Amino acid sequence: MSPGAVIDSRRPAGDNRVMDAAIDRLRRLYEGGAAHSDYIGEAISQLDHALQAAQLAASACASDEEVLAALLHDVGHLCAPLPAVRMGTHGISTHEEVGADFLATLGFASGVTERVRGHVAAKRYLVAERPGYAEALSDASRMTLMHQGGPFDAQARRAFEAAPLFAALLRLRAWDEAAKVPGLVVPDFDHYVPRLESHLSAGLEVRT
Ligand code: FE
Repeated sequence: MSPGAVIDSRRPAGDNRVMDAAIDRLRRLYEGGAAHSDYIGEAISQLDHALQAAQLAASACASDEEVLAALLHDVGHLCAPLPAVRMGTHGISTHEEVGADFLATLGFASGVTERVRGHVAAKRYLVAERPGYAEALSDASRMTLMHQGGPFDAQARRAFEAAPLFAALLRLRAWDEAAKVPGLVVPDFDHYVPRLESHLSAGLEVRT
């Protein structure tokens, strides 16, 4: 049982086990060796990047789905099966798709999975739309942009602007970009367990 896990006695025991197993899987990924490696060429680890992104979302009083999407947006770098397509030394290509699909198998709702899936598109949009955005990116982020398809063309920009999560994806992108501060002390993974339980248990309720 995960620390702080809530047993809902109204729900079949199997449902609580499914939720606990999903959270334990994520905890192992985020506390495992890969999460302590550098965040695709940045000066901080994958774990620190995830925790900082989640803290930025929480500080902005974002919804639980936004906070969880910020926490988990790069899980595709940690969960990708081998051999995954790699962007040189800069992580897993299509990590946003890998991560979103992985989270769906764990029971996350589209409010989390589609934010994760769209977070690279937000970068491609902003690079094309905002003068100077590309220059402000870190070297590693500029490098991965090329592997991710480069800036959106005009048609892709208009389609992205029309997407229901347009504003939310720009918010997530801002937290992602800012979550690269070496040595910053922020709440740990278990701080987010109550949010994870709340989100995953709501999904179980819908399915039962
Ligand atoms: Fe990121």
